[in-house]
Amino acid sequence: MLSVVRVHLPSEIPIVGCEITPYVLLRRPDGAVSTNDVPETAPADGQFMRYRWYRIQSDRKVPICSVHPMEQATIQCLGCLKSKIPVAKSYHCSAKCFSDAWQHHKVLHERASSALNENGAEEEELFGRFGSGGSGVLSTAGSGSLSNFGQSPGVNNGPVPFYPSGTDKNSGETWFEVGRSRTYTPTADDIGHALKFECVAVDSEKKSPIGPSTSIMTSRVIPAPTPTPRRLIQVNGDVLGHLDLDSQISSLGTFTVLSYNILADAYATTDAYSYCPTWALTWNYRRQNLLREIIGYHADIICLQEVQVNHFEDFFSPELDKHGYQALYKKRTTEVYSGNPMAIDGCATFFRRDKFSHVKKYEVEFNKAAQSLTDAIIPAAQKRVALSRLIKDNIALIAVLEAKFGNHGAENPGKRQLLCVANTHINVHQDLKDVKLWEVHTLLKGLEKIAVSADIPMLVCGDFNSTPGRCICI
Ligand SMILES: [Zn+2]
Ligand SMILES: [Zn+2]
Repeated sequence: MLSVVRVHLPSEIPIVGCEITPYVLLRRPDGAVSTNDVPETAPADGQFMRYRWYRIQSDRKVPICSVHPMEQATIQCLGCLKSKIPVAKSYHCSAKCFSDAWQHHKVLHERASSALNENGAEEEELFGRFGSGGSGVLSTAGSGSLSNFGQSPGVNNGPVPFYPSGTDKNSGETWFEVGRSRTYTPTADDIGHALKFECVAVDSEKKSPIGPSTSIMTSRVIPAPTPTPRRLIQVNGDVLGHLDLDSQISSLGTFTVLSYNILADAYATTDAYSYCPTWALTWNYRRQNLLREIIGYHADIICLQEVQVNHFEDFFSPELDKHGYQALYKKRTTEVYSGNPMAIDGCATFFRRDKFSHVKKYEVEFNKAAQSLTDAIIPAAQKRVALSRLIKDNIALIAVLEAKFGNHGAENPGKRQLLCVANTHINVHQDLKDVKLWEVHTLLKGLEKIAVSADIPMLVCGDFNSTPGRCICI
């Protein structure tokens, strides 16, 4: 018989716009235990899993601080109300909280007024993720219009009836069914309310439960915090001074490049980032912020490091494809690594299809280079020690692209305008400076061969785990 073995949530605190994917372990009718779903469309032995999500609306609901999601709000910014900023953003837990947040908070007012100046066209883009429920979100249960219980555009939580599923008169709680899928994306209407996830095995013929249902409650849904603007460091002009920029620009045209280590989910542990709340470390929360920021830079070429295999395939490749980018990927080697095979990270390079086309891809595995180096010059007795120091699973991804823009063939008619882009993640350990240096040296030697053979300009991106003036500075 199909049954639920275990259910748990990646984080207790749901966030608006951030999909919740509960971990559901099932025992299938043949006895196998698996996390694979058994949906109605593919029943197992005449049985399937039914999922329900409920919003629990209480009369005792309280507004929540927009900066400190665990704190109750005590004051509200009237400027937000005037500017029609989503009301959840206007709440603060104390006067100090409000004044501390002012530098960032006032950006909301500025954006809102510029959005209004442009006939509100930008407003949907800026605040769309808070849902269309907007200013109605903190009305008490029952006083909102029915349209407040609809879904935000673009959120697929399955078909949902717009009526309460049950009311407990004593506690003043009303349950609204909000989703019928295994996953659920909280909307602005859920802010301040707890959610309940329920799953039960069902008979395909009778459509009735064949066992007890398993349910799990979340904490109150919080609004997505407003991202803090980045404090970017201006690169000193002297660094670029020795490049003959004018002639490069005239022959190639200009393009923009972004290099970004996104911190793989496997490394975003509560041990390593104990100062960070658990919900902010969950991948579903981080990935939407990463995507929004990465796309926001509108770079022509994007070099990402620490991209897990599964996140490249399920998320970054399809999402960036929607924004006109083609993707290339190289995962780390795994001679040292011993964790989850899907959580292996690597380097991903994306380029705009309208600006570049892909010509060739080279993969550098520093483990292989270590092997040939030790074979060639290290005496047999010291080989093992040398290899264990150099073999660190690091890699580089090299892409040769052809520009579809610029001053084509002006100097050499018929010549293709090629560009070589390297993307790497150099070893992190501070006590392995020689290894860092050797890895970069190996990469540059490889690039030199490509450059000499084809006379191609080079772009070397990556996370070198080194700052200017340290052992690696290129
Ligand atoms: Zn305000
Ligand atoms: Zn606060």
